[in-house]
Amino acid sequence: MLKKVCPNCGQASYSASEFALWICPSCKHNLQYIPTEPAGAIDDITECFWCDGRMAKMHDGVLVCSDCGWRYKGKESEVEER
Ligand SMILES: [Zn+2]
Ligand SMILES: [Zn+2]
Repeated sequence: MLKKVCPNCGQASYSASEFALWICPSCKHNLQYIPTEPAGAIDDITECFWCDGRMAKMHDGVLVCSDCGWRYKGKESEVEER
């Protein structure tokens, strides 16, 4: 997975191919010539949803924001609570 950050609206978008036509999903800005960043695994997020802080991955797979402490357990854990 590759990631590009739109210079126009600041939204990150994801794609499997660097060479595909790449349009920002939120503002339709052309991101074709914006450099890509590695995005990691598909359900990994690298920026906090709340404060744009950096998310650190714990050994149990939980992502924790280093700035505000927000915890993100991933998609699977939201489906079923045990
Ligand atoms: Zn945009
Ligand atoms: Zn945060």
